[in-house]
Amino acid sequence: MHPLDPLLKNNRNWAQKIHAQNPDFFPTLSRQQAPDYLWIGCSDSRVPANEICGLLPGEIFVHRNVANIVVHSDLNCLSVMQYAVDVLKVKHILVVGHYGCGGVRAALGNQKFGLIDNWLRHVQDVKAKYTDHLACFNDESTQVDRLCELNVIAQTISAAQTTIVQNAWERGQELAIHGWVYGLKDGLVRHLGISLTSPAELAEAMATRWEKKTVELQIPDPA
Ligand SMILES: [Zn+2]
Repeated sequence: MHPLDPLLKNNRNWAQKIHAQNPDFFPTLSRQQAPDYLWIGCSDSRVPANEICGLLPGEIFVHRNVANIVVHSDLNCLSVMQYAVDVLKVKHILVVGHYGCGGVRAALGNQKFGLIDNWLRHVQDVKAKYTDHLACFNDESTQVDRLCELNVIAQTISAAQTTIVQNAWERGQELAIHGWVYGLKDGLVRHLGISLTSPAELAEAMATRWEKKTVELQIPDPA
């Protein structure tokens, strides 16, 4: 048996199951997609966008990279954002980090892995901004989780600063950028208290001392 055979078998079972529930599902979806959400998350295999939000194919547009970073020179991420906002007209951009992120841990501990160290420099920029705050915590895992949250805040602000979001707001397009963090240990998403819908809210977020602000972790009721 080929090592990939189980995946292909799973795929057939999955497609059959969806077809049995709704014979029009795939034909309809093949004609167009109209997602309301863009997910910008970490590449970590434990953080799958569709499953976490309970969404079907066609319902969420996805970009993932190591440590969910939004950099203004990253044509890949910017192209995804531009297509999602300008063409698909998504209403919400979700910047989603996760606790225990390996990329954030590497950035925090100055670990060396090669080329990716350059990418993680962006997380180290966030770390440098909050050095004093992070030093308040004794154990490494708390520091990592805190930096995971602060990195989400920084990348949410960065996403809102792109020309894509700025232009959308200028022409009056409805668009909100939210910062979320996902818990690997309980499968729950927390809203980090940052949702930006206008230049004024972005300015306020940029002036906010996020390390001081009480982060009210809104754990959704699974029911
Ligand atoms: Zn990660």
